[in-house]
This record gives sequence, C-alpha cells and structure tokens, in this order.
Amino acid sequence: MNQSDTLAIVKPDAFGAGKAGKILAHLESAGFRVVATRVVRLSRTQAEAFYAVHRERPFFGSLVAFMTSGPCMPVLLRREDAVAELRRVIGATDPAEADEGTVRALYAESKERNAIHASDSPENAGIESAFFFAGTDRLLA
Ligand code: ATP
Ligand code: MG
Repeated sequence: MNQSDTLAIVKPDAFGAGKAGKILAHLESAGFRVVATRVVRLSRTQAEAFYAVHRERPFFGSLVAFMTSGPCMPVLLRREDAVAELRRVIGATDPAEADEGTVRALYAESKERNAIHASDSPENAGIESAFFFAGTDRLLA
C-alpha cells in the first residue's frame, strides 16, 4: 500500500487543554508523519462549510459553536493507508464507545467535545486538506 495523506484537526477542547503535543506524539508513534500544520480559529462560515454534510442534524448548531469556540490545529498527516489508519487510531465518535488506547478514549471529553477530527474517505481527505493547506509548501516529498 502506498503512502497517502489525510486530514486531522485537534479540536478546540483538546487544543485549549494543552493536549495537542500529546496527540501529535500519539499519531507519530502510530506511524504518521506531519506534512503540514497550522493553528487557526475557524469562523462560523468556515465551520459551517467544513461540516456542511451535517447541516440538517440536530447537533449542527452546537457543533459549529464548539468548533468556533477557540483555536484548533489542522494537521496534514501521511502514512500507508492514512485515511483508514487514522480513523482506527482516533476511535469511535463517542469516547465512551472508543477502543482503549485510541486518541478519543484517552483525550476526548464527550461525544461532541471529542478531541480530534479525521477525514472519513480518501475523497474527503483531498477536499479537507485543500480547505486548510491549499498552496502550502510541503517539505515532505
Ligand atoms: P469528525 O467528522 O469530527 O472526524 P466523526 O466522523 O467521528 O467525527 P461525525 O458523525 O462526522 O463523526 O460527526 C462530526 C462531529 O459532530 C463529531 O466528531 C462530534 O464532534 C459531533 N457530533 C456527532 N454526533 C453528535 C451527537 N450525537 N451529539 C453531539 N455531537 C455530535
Ligand atoms: Mg465525520
């Protein structure tokens, strides 16, 4: 399997609690390389666009409020089978259901404030990477 890229976001709960370094270390230990990263504060428009697939869901307004509540850290990550491996390493959406040792089991507060986002398909990984890193220098070839 070839190397591929996927997008993670250390969400405002984890970033604000000073857990970004531990989460990045966890991901590096799981075989991911950091291709690019930034610290950003999403606008309401950006958060609504990023999670547009959920706009009809009852939790959408609360999710947008959470994602705009403070800085977060998008990270472009690379390894073999990156999309599926990152989803496996972060665990289930609800930390109460996440496997032991996953990022969400270790660092998430709740189903909403769940520490990290990960792209759910190679197609979305491409779209979401461009959302934050279009035009960014990528020093890893
Ligand atoms: P993400 O897209 O952030 O990686 P996910 O793919 O595991 O998470 P989604 O179903 O795409 O889960 O939901 C997006 C985000 O919306 C969740 O990560 C969580 O922050 C929030 N969310 C999802 N379901 C609920 C819910 N029932 N109640 C509150 N918040 C929720
Ligand atoms: Mg999702």
